[in-house]
Amino acid sequence: MTTMYEQKILELSKKYYEKTVALRHQFHKFPEIGFEEVKTSQTVAEELEKLGITVTRNIAKTGVVGLIKGKYPGKTVLLRADMDALNIQEEADVPYRSQVPGKMHACGHDGHTAGLLGAAMVLNELKDELKGNVKLIFQPAEENHGGAEPMITEGVLENPKVDAAFGCHLWGGIPEGEIHVKHGAAMAAPDTFAFKVIGKGGHGAMPHLAIDPVILTVQAINNMQSIISRRINPLSPAVISYGSINGGENHNVIPNEVKVTGTIRTFDKKLRYWIPKAMEETLKGVTELQGAKYTFDFTEKFPILFNDDKMTNLVQKTVAKVVGEENVKEAPEANMGGEDFAYFAEKVPSSFFFVGISKDMEKPVLHHHPEFQWDDKNLLTVMQSMAQVAVDFLNNNEQ
Ligand SMILES: [Zn+2]
Ligand SMILES: [Zn+2]
Repeated sequence: MTTMYEQKILELSKKYYEKTVALRHQFHKFPEIGFEEVKTSQTVAEELEKLGITVTRNIAKTGVVGLIKGKYPGKTVLLRADMDALNIQEEADVPYRSQVPGKMHACGHDGHTAGLLGAAMVLNELKDELKGNVKLIFQPAEENHGGAEPMITEGVLENPKVDAAFGCHLWGGIPEGEIHVKHGAAMAAPDTFAFKVIGKGGHGAMPHLAIDPVILTVQAINNMQSIISRRINPLSPAVISYGSINGGENHNVIPNEVKVTGTIRTFDKKLRYWIPKAMEETLKGVTELQGAKYTFDFTEKFPILFNDDKMTNLVQKTVAKVVGEENVKEAPEANMGGEDFAYFAEKVPSSFFFVGISKDMEKPVLHHHPEFQWDDKNLLTVMQSMAQVAVDFLNNNEQ
């Protein structure tokens, strides 16, 4: 049985490959950033409607949902793609280069969107054999604000109720032809912080009459480094990085205050909330010592992405049919990047996997880089894998 689907999915993926490539090129030429994916989502909706798939538009502004109803009753599987691009001027030498100044698909989301449309074409032809439903989610704004959470709030996990969710990312850190899965924590919570050290400005020549927020900021940042190096188990990965420090304008003036922003990355829920507390304690200690004041804000962004063991086992088995068992690997470590697929994974058993795109691991493809590019042929892997995962989830009783 399984082998039969494997063959069919391969044949159908080949049948729709050219169409999928053309769609990828179109998305790539006209990139749109988070919550502005108007043309992209219109194309997505139109392509789904052409197939006779039920479409709901404008979920979380620009999100689109397609529903393929299988002939037989069963479960509902969610497949997710993100549609947004980035504010980057493209420098890649490709014929389908971005036509929009300052905007670019530099993360591969054009491939996720086209690849899921390709999978939809494949699955739609198999619907008379499917037990249950496939919900196709095209979400906005993965890169910045996050489109997954508002789509869930607007009900995409209901009617019909979703039993499991899958998604993938084209990935520069993996050789082309390989797929990596990751059991458990797969991607970090990419939270942010902002703090202010409020001192008392004065003349640079007379520091004793001022409270210097520059020196206190330097001390605070230095002390915060030892939160990671001295206060956390070295086997628990975590990052504190500073993205901006702003204070003062003149060489001989001590400013009133200094503002700092940055990001905290964690894979552990306890650490996620302990680190900002420890940072604030440090800041409090340093500033109080010299009579300065402070403010400290921690903002939760996406949750930690936890892959469900059973669903990840299923992906592992399933994608082996696409790229061969020897090319499916367990990711050696979790990824410090964030991913708002995590919101789906919080609600239903889920697995998010990584499709390799680098031809030379000495010079791996860099995401969010002006020269980011990858070979169209990886679309075949994406559409085939997504279709196969859906079919195996719905029609196999292994889970
Ligand atoms: Zn990205
Ligand atoms: Zn991305």
